[in-house]
Amino acid sequence: MDRVNDTKIALVTGANKGIGFAIAQGLGALGFTVAVGARDEARRTEAVDRLRAAGSDAFGVALDVTSDESVAAAASTVEQTVGRLDVLVNNAGIGGRIDGGAQDPVTLDLDVVRTVLDTNVFGVVRVTNAMLPLLRRAAAPRIVNISSNMGSLTLRTGPILAAYAPSKSMLNSVTVQYARALAETNILVNAACPGYVATDFTGFNAPRTPEQGAAIALRLATLPDDGPRGGFFDDAGVVAW
Ligand code: NAP
Repeated sequence: MDRVNDTKIALVTGANKGIGFAIAQGLGALGFTVAVGARDEARRTEAVDRLRAAGSDAFGVALDVTSDESVAAAASTVEQTVGRLDVLVNNAGIGGRIDGGAQDPVTLDLDVVRTVLDTNVFGVVRVTNAMLPLLRRAAAPRIVNISSNMGSLTLRTGPILAAYAPSKSMLNSVTVQYARALAETNILVNAACPGYVATDFTGFNAPRTPEQGAAIALRLATLPDDGPRGGFFDDAGVVAW
């Protein structure tokens, strides 16, 4: 498919399956060229093929969000392939081990905390900072961080998971820090909660489809210039911090 200059470009991390794939599919259907960020070559190629078969313009970007080198190489790939980014969706995330009380706060395994933070929070910072120069070249850049209402200190919802839930609280806080730092720019940064979605993450034992989970990310990725900055949203509106 030929790319024209006004075609918008989106990078989705962890786009090979689950909610990330559905976000990639949704952005592709909206006419975005989609950079499919995924760490495994076979899974990445398969996802790109599926998106292309559905009529989307997509290309693969090797991306492990826990690796500085991989993230830097991914930024180079995006720059060389399309030259800028209009949308970044930080979707890649992990739940972390729970065996042996690893995420019970009273027996918390700090190695699990480090591992979860490295992907769910530090990964977002790595990718965002590597991609910001490309985002600054776009007319109306948008960053969407896929969070969870499990990170809400007000709602106190979901199972007790003392690595995963705090990782999303911190991601929400980091989202606000970015929104403040970028307040004088045209870059809108927000966090999204997809709801409880049937994916590998939930053992496919949840009521919402990946497409339903992707909907709020698509809305935040396509906000108008006067849209919110540093907010936390789901399909129903604002989520309590
Ligand atoms: P999923 O099906 O397990 O997909 C997770 C994706 O993240 C996969 O593509 C995975 O790649 C990728 N990933 C994990 N670690 C990575 C790394 N180091 N580098 C690059 N990619 C990495 O889970 P999901 O349910 O779609 O979750 C997506 C996001 O939604 C997560 O941030 C999750 O916390 C959030 N969320 C999910 C739910 C839910 O109910 N499912 C609810 C609230 C929030 P591999 O295939 O290579 O592992």
